[in-house]
Amino acid sequence: MMAKRKGSFPDQLIRPLVRKLHGYVPGEQPNVRGLIKLNTNENPAPPSPKVIRAIRSAADRRLRFYPDPAAQPLREALAKFHCCRPENIIIGNGSDELLALATRAFVEPRQAGATTRRQVAKQTVQYFTPSYSLYPVLADIHGARRNEVKLPGNFELPASDVLRKSNWNFSAALTYITTPNAPSGCGYATRDLAKLCAAQNGVTILDEAYVDFADEHALRLAKRFQHVIVSRTFSKAYSLCFQRVGYFVGHPTLIGALDRIRDSYNVNGLGQAAALATLSNIGYYRKQFSRIVRLREETTGALETIGFDVLPSQANFIFVEPAGLTAEEWFRALRERKILTRWFDASKARNRLRITIGTEAEMARFLTATRSILRQ
Ligand SMILES: *Cc1c(COP(=O)(O)O)cnc(C)c1O
Repeated sequence: MMAKRKGSFPDQLIRPLVRKLHGYVPGEQPNVRGLIKLNTNENPAPPSPKVIRAIRSAADRRLRFYPDPAAQPLREALAKFHCCRPENIIIGNGSDELLALATRAFVEPRQAGATTRRQVAKQTVQYFTPSYSLYPVLADIHGARRNEVKLPGNFELPASDVLRKSNWNFSAALTYITTPNAPSGCGYATRDLAKLCAAQNGVTILDEAYVDFADEHALRLAKRFQHVIVSRTFSKAYSLCFQRVGYFVGHPTLIGALDRIRDSYNVNGLGQAAALATLSNIGYYRKQFSRIVRLREETTGALETIGFDVLPSQANFIFVEPAGLTAEEWFRALRERKILTRWFDASKARNRLRITIGTEAEMARFLTATRSILRQ
């Protein structure tokens, strides 16, 4: 029998901030046979056979050793890949870990009595809505202020003079920009991102989780501006969600700060081996990217023919306003047919479905199901 104490015990042992916290809600990962999973933007193709071999051959007696603490060989390989120095790169347990480290390294938690404009800015995490739904959670965990600025109806990047008339804070300690945007898939021109970066005074993270499916990337901005970091991941485009490897490219001073506060062995050894093997097989992945982009355009065309509104996408998913039923009804009707998509119960996104581009066969089944639901 557990000894009982009074009142809200053991609830009261938890920090009030944590007690009230709403954690991040990940997309469903159900284990259902025959399910077509178009809800979490995973790559439908497996990793290259060479990558799987590299993971297998690393899984031996050496598992008892700690991995390389700084993931140094991977940093060096990435430095070569991006024409920069290893000091410009930090590897994380997924880019999610690095995004969390950035809030801790660059943002002051909210303090009572700190009300000058400068103090508020130092405590502020800023991002557009809708964008990656992890950002507000990271701000809340840290006890920072959040500044959310609505994207326009077409989800394009607002120009600086438009932002000046809004609640946008050019001095926010940390600004996250998802580019291409998720969930809309809207691509942002590097030229426009450069103007925004030039106007920001705080750390600005360009979250390029989907950039391999886009026409251009903004890596050069991380080299040009001392306060700009580009975030990349092996998860989506490189079929390695399971392994959890992401990285930042930025100025050695900012990267060094993140390096000081990370766990000593934050990146597991099999993940390091997988990411290294991935970099030496880039050709395999480039072929996948063009297949997915082609299928994205074909699916867009097919859906437009049956009256769906599809936003132009630069990512491996499309954000559609369906015809006939509401987005929520479409989500349920597709789910009944074992096709999983993502519906966000948030004002700007409620009337749309986000659909990951799967294999040719999956997209054919998706279109067949969609036409049949529309006929009913
Ligand atoms: C999936 C995703 C990430 C996280 O990727 P991991 O490297 O798997 O942690 C970061 N940003 C955006 C916008 C994403 O969609």
